[in-house]
Formats: sequence, C-alpha cells, structure tokens
Amino acid sequence: MSDASPAWWRAPAGLLARLGTWRERRALERRAIPDDLWRLTLARLPFVARLDESDQAELRRLCSLFLDRKEFHGVGGLEVTDDMALVIAAQACLPVLRLGLDVYAGFVTIVVHPEGVVAPRTEVDEDGVVHEYEEELSGEAMSNGPLMLAWSDVQDGTELIDTVFNVVIHEFVHVIDAAAGAIDGVPPLPDRAARDHWIEVMDAAYAQFCQDVDDGYETVVDPYGAEAVEEYFAVAVEAFFIEPEPFRHESRALYELFVGYFQQDPAAR
Ligand SMILES: [Zn+2]
Repeated sequence: MSDASPAWWRAPAGLLARLGTWRERRALERRAIPDDLWRLTLARLPFVARLDESDQAELRRLCSLFLDRKEFHGVGGLEVTDDMALVIAAQACLPVLRLGLDVYAGFVTIVVHPEGVVAPRTEVDEDGVVHEYEEELSGEAMSNGPLMLAWSDVQDGTELIDTVFNVVIHEFVHVIDAAAGAIDGVPPLPDRAARDHWIEVMDAAYAQFCQDVDDGYETVVDPYGAEAVEEYFAVAVEAFFIEPEPFRHESRALYELFVGYFQQDPAAR
C-alpha cells in the first residue's frame, strides 16, 4: 500500500502550503479528540478499530480537521453531542484516509434528523402515468448542498450484519462521486485512461450484480445498489470497508479497483 497521496489531491507548493500547514496545526489543537472519546468511537465501529496503529492515528487527525471544518445541525429536537459527531466523522473520514479531506470541501453543514425523513416523490411510468409516493430517506447527499443523515440509521449502520448497511459511508461516497461533476458512479480520477478503466470495471461489476440480484442470490452488497450504478458504487464501498472479505469474493475486479483508488486494502487488516 502506498502512503503517498496522488498528485491531483496535493495542495499547491510554497507559501499557500505553509499557510495551510499552520491553519491545520491550529485546527488540530482546537479540535483535539480526548482519549476516552476516541476509545468509545473505536468500540462502536469495529471496522475502524481494526485499522493498524498508524492508520488509526491518521484517521484521528482527519477527524479533528473534519470536525473543525464541518457544522453539525440537529433537527426535530435532536442534539448532536460530541460522541455522535465523532461517530459520524470517523466513518466519513475512513474512505478518504489516503485521499484527504479536500474532496469534501463542497459543503459545510451536516443535518442530523432523529429518524428517517419522508420525502414526496413523483415518477412517470412507461404509459405516461404519474405516480406519487413517499420514500423514507436514511440520508441524502447533494452537490454543494448540506448532507442529511438520520441518526437512527447511523446507529443501525454500526452493527456488522449479513447485508451491509452503512448510511454514513454511503452518503459520503456520493459526495466523493459528486466531486467529479455529477453523481454518476465515477469519482475524481487523474486522467482519461483512469476514467475509462474505472467505467469499464464498474459497468461489468454492476451488470453482474444486477443479474445476481435478479436471480435471487443473497449478496453482501445491499441489493438497493441495483437501482442505479451510482447507488451500486455507494453500497459497494460500504461493503468494501465493512465486509471486505466477502465483498472481494463477490466482486474481485471491483475490490481491486477500490484498493487502487482508496489506497487501502481492508481485507488485509
Ligand atoms: Zn444513495
């Protein structure tokens, strides 16, 4: 595993970088995470606790910076406590452990609801008939908008279950995806060749996954991923970090693609 960040994520050299370092040091002092709170977070997140010592230290550093840059806003009578914010931050920072936080720069506010939010939806079917229905959302990410999470679903996502469900990783993968322009299953990549390769591997894995779901196989990746390729990207990354062994077994090529992109190999932990 390489610990060097890819060039396209690097901050500019010289004065700006020095200013950045100074700001970062101030933020780390301001948002230092107390030992007991960090231990509690690791106890709650087994897939974070299995990181080695140096990765844990880097994640803790990223969490401090994340908490410094983001604002949590509880609604519906929910108060976002320090330990709640940290449990969200640790899961949000896990995918970008090597990539850094710049990819999350497009938004500041994280809105936390006590429960899932019911959103009105409209769909037009093949015959042109309009169907109105309600969908319960456990989270929502928008390009450059606030990110929404339902706390009850965040809590469910900390458990290791047969089919992976982790709303925090899910929504932050949409943010990473959106950083390349559109939420379309393709994250920021360094060049055309990398983008073409990504699309080729992702499309093949997605087609196989949809077939498996249609055939009624039990997949480790949430079958919700069959909705659209960008949803498949999000649920596959959940599985990559939470159930890496079964996920590697389910989709070897996609696993390898993620190892290269995230510069992490969770199955080796
Ligand atoms: Zn989604």
